[in-house]
Amino acid sequence: MESKQSLNYTPSMTGKEVVDLLDEIYPKIRTHLSHENPFQLLVATVLSAQSTDVQINKVTPTLFAQFPDAKSMSRAPIRELERLVKSSGFFHVKARRIKEISKQIIEDFHGEVPDSMETLLTLPGIGRKTANIVLSAGYGKIEGIAVDTHVFRLSRRIGLSQSATPEKIEIDLMKITPKNLWPRLSILLIFHGRQICFARSPLCSKCVLNSKCVYFKNLQDKAKNLGSS
Ligand code: SF4
Repeated sequence: MESKQSLNYTPSMTGKEVVDLLDEIYPKIRTHLSHENPFQLLVATVLSAQSTDVQINKVTPTLFAQFPDAKSMSRAPIRELERLVKSSGFFHVKARRIKEISKQIIEDFHGEVPDSMETLLTLPGIGRKTANIVLSAGYGKIEGIAVDTHVFRLSRRIGLSQSATPEKIEIDLMKITPKNLWPRLSILLIFHGRQICFARSPLCSKCVLNSKCVYFKNLQDKAKNLGSS
């Protein structure tokens, strides 16, 4: 599933080129959400929205000590869940969401987190990003590429995709990246977005991707034009 022909533009790099370059500087980067099973990974991923992995890893040990599985979490008092996840932000919504998800896992899936994209997407509030993370890091299954805010921003800046939605960007990335590298590409782009390619003021001069990055090339072209005018 690596075909540039089916894109209506020429990507600046392949996914493999991005992975190879970023792997050299971040060789040990893995998913940092602590978990012992797919259910805990699913809950941690839901909590990680608008937060950081470090913050979530401070919240989940106490949460999972009290409510380690879908059965116990589905029966948890909502006020207690809110208290436990408060520091992750948006705690009213997140507490309700993890309780609803737990209930549905009990009612529809006999207490087991489903292991396919199709069924994961039936859980309340679960989109392809979370489903991709659970499938790859929880079940070792690769069905897509998790596109969060960093993957979205970097893909467009670098010139891997020109699409305007996470769903379309995921499809574009899948076309230019060998399937075995899909999870790695996502993890590396997320990390690079946190370390170098910030939403505001990316550190382009320090970036290993800058020789092929469309955003950086445009910046240089603008600077040249200003210099010659
Ligand atoms: S060169 Fe700049 S914009 Fe491009 S990926 Fe690197 S930091 Fe981001």
